[in-house]
This record gives sequence, C-alpha cells and structure tokens, in this order.
Amino acid sequence: MSAQAQMRAMLDQLMGTSRDGDTMRQRIKFTDERVCKSHLLDSCPHDILSGTRMDLGDCIKVHDLALRADFEIASKEQEYFFELDAAEHLQSFIADCDRRTELAKKRLAETQDEISAEVDAKAERVHELNEEIGKLLARAEQLGSEGNVDEAQQLLEMVEKTRILKKEAEDVYRNSMPASSFQQQKLRVCEVCSAYLGLHDNDRRLADHFGGKLHIGFIEIREKLEKLRVRKLRLFDTAQDDLQPKALDDIWEDRVQKMTSSRRITSIFRTLLHP
Ligand SMILES: [Zn+2]
Ligand SMILES: [Zn+2]
Repeated sequence: MSAQAQMRAMLDQLMGTSRDGDTMRQRIKFTDERVCKSHLLDSCPHDILSGTRMDLGDCIKVHDLALRADFEIASKEQEYFFELDAAEHLQSFIADCDRRTELAKKRLAETQDEISAEVDAKAERVHELNEEIGKLLARAEQLGSEGNVDEAQQLLEMVEKTRILKKEAEDVYRNSMPASSFQQQKLRVCEVCSAYLGLHDNDRRLADHFGGKLHIGFIEIREKLEKLRVRKLRLFDTAQDDLQPKALDDIWEDRVQKMTSSRRITSIFRTLLHP
C-alpha cells in the first residue's frame, strides 16, 4: 500500500465517510443490504483467513473501513442488530468446518486400524503435548522476532520439558499396540481448523500448524462467534422482552436454517472443500 493509500485508510478508520475532502468516492450506507455486517463487526472470515491455505477470496459483500467507522459512531445512538447477521454468517461457516472435521475423522477411521478407547486416549495425550509444543514454539519465535530474547528463552526451556513428557507419552502409546499399527496410526484431525495432523510430526511442523495463520484464524473466528452469541442473547433480552426465550431460540434457529441453505453459503463451502 502506498503512503497515500495508507493515510486514506487510516482517516477512513478514524472518521468514517464524512471526513472532509472525500467527495470523490460514491458511497453506500452501512445499513445497505450489500454491506458485509460481519466486516462492520470486524469478524468476516474472508478477512481473517486471507492469505491462508483456506483463503476464501474476496467477500461478495462490501468491505469498507469508513463504513465500519460510520457504523461504530451510529451504533452508540441506535441498535442495528447486525450481531445477528454476523453470528449467522459465522455460525454456518463454523458448522461447515465442524462437518469437515467429522468427515475427515470418519475417513481416518475407515483407513486406520481400529483401536480401543484406552489406546486412543494414549494417542490423544501425545496429540495434546504436540499441540503444547507447537504453541510454545510459535510463541517463542514471535517473542524472539520482537526482541524479547529472555522470554523466548524461557519458553524454549518449557518446550524442552514438554518434549520429555511427550517422549514418555509416546512410549506408553507405542507399547500399547503392535509396531505395524503404531506406524499406521499417525494421523489426527485438528478440532479447531479440520486440518490433518501427523501424530509423529516434528517440531517445525507443529509450530507451523499451531502457530500458523490458518489455525489461529479459526480460533479467532470461533472466539468472535462466541462473543456474538453472548451479544445476541443480550439483544434478545433487551429488545424483545415480550417474547419467551424458547420462542427467541426458534426464531434464531429458523434464521440460521435459512442462512445455511442459501446459495451464497453453499458456494463458500464449495470453495472450502475444493480449494
Ligand atoms: Zn465479508
Ligand atoms: Zn488446526
């Protein structure tokens, strides 16, 4: 982005569409049907996953920081209920990710030897420690690049300790089955982002996954959805006092259902499944 474009984006963010001297651009209002409500609330998956393996491309709705600023100013005076739209959007997005996770798990179950719940729990322990190592390494790398060498060093020491625990957990797991099965049982599905994970992945790959933009992006989307859900409930409380909670839930489910079946979402899912 050029310095000028950067300045413009900054002014947009601060002042919205009404800033002086900005008469060149044809603007629509933030309430317009074509404007992405998730973007107004800084939670559109198209933004969050941009540049990752699951990059969704441009959102079909309008993204404009100046409109977001307009909305932020206006929403201090009035309630727009855009949280409902955004929550529906994210809800159907996450529901699809979870469906893919289930599908991937099923596929694995079909190709890998069946193991008992007890052995599976042992594999799960290795997986948990893998995740911990991946997160610690990713964080240590980030701290190191920011110049926090001492903190990074502390985390690396924690990685060392976790590695020892992992080694033990791996031995317990390995001893619980024949060697051939051990080699075979090497894949798991990430519950957060639905990617396949190698149980025997090396540290580099673990850090790349758990500290990677895609995995972190899905964590962010899930957290934002949770916040929107809380906000949704609060909106229902204040705005529709006369309705019973059950009725509100039905309205909500009905809207989610409509959204999920809409063509727009289907096309997003198709992109996701066949990137
Ligand atoms: Zn969007
Ligand atoms: Zn993941």
